Amino acid sequence: MIKIENLWKIYGNDKIKVEALKGISLEVEKGEFVAIMGPSGSGKSTFMNILGCLDRPTRGSFILDNVEVEKLKDTDLAVIRNKKLGFVFQSFNLLPRISAFKNVELPMIYANVPLKERSKRAIAALEKVGLKDRIHHKPNELSGGQRQRVAIARALVNNPSVILADEPTGNLDSKSSEEIMDIFKSLNDEGVTIVLVTHEIEVAKKAKRIITFRDGEIIEDTKNMGTGDE
Ligand code: ADP
Ligand code: ADP
Repeated sequence: MIKIENLWKIYGNDKIKVEALKGISLEVEKGEFVAIMGPSGSGKSTFMNILGCLDRPTRGSFILDNVEVEKLKDTDLAVIRNKKLGFVFQSFNLLPRISAFKNVELPMIYANVPLKERSKRAIAALEKVGLKDRIHHKPNELSGGQRQRVAIARALVNNPSVILADEPTGNLDSKSSEEIMDIFKSLNDEGVTIVLVTHEIEVAKKAKRIITFRDGEIIEDTKNMGTGDE
């Protein structure tokens, strides 16, 4: 599903150069649940921005569902972002003035999904994350964990190939963190592919595979043999 080969990202100009990614290669199969760890400055955000089609590599190839992403025009990248990727952020990034339902509906409006279908899918997604009784609440009427659940529902509604989550538990207390990870885990059990960045080992342990970055390179890539429930 994701195939990355010899990916480089170099920031800067002739005078100052930062090699943020130094020839990363990796494959992620459909149905995997991957946690990315590594110290600050190791290239995690740069990597996620490329995976998320927000930024382009300096060189190397990135194939998503048989599409050579690095060759696409910006307008096509925007289409991929909406159709094939679901995003979950540390700061939730919900629109504050509209309900949970409307927040979840939004990506489907951009994807031209008909009204009736939008409504059905938004409710089903909110139900999936355990928020059926909160669909008309606005973000400020919800707890942090509930807001993140709305964000996960929003990430799901267009049936993305992969969900990309950048420190999704970074703003949550430990109980809400665990609830969020349990939701990711049950989505993954249903076949949703997930790649998430975290610096908390307890969070990473819920994933089935842990990849560690250092200085723009992958220094470790291990399958998590446990159940993820410990
Ligand atoms: P992480 O997410 O692991 O903290 P980043 O991907 O943010 O790492 O950063 C990797 C390296 O690239 C760091 O040395 C950082 O300073 C540098 N970097 C990140 N973004 C930029 C940018 N827009 N311009 C220049 N350097 C950058
Ligand atoms: P965090 O919540 O982890 O601090 P941010 O919210 O700053 O992360 O978002 C990370 C990156 O994603 C930024 O480059 C930002 O511009 C981009 N971004 C944030 N929100 C959206 C969104 N709704 N759609 C697309 N890109 C977004």
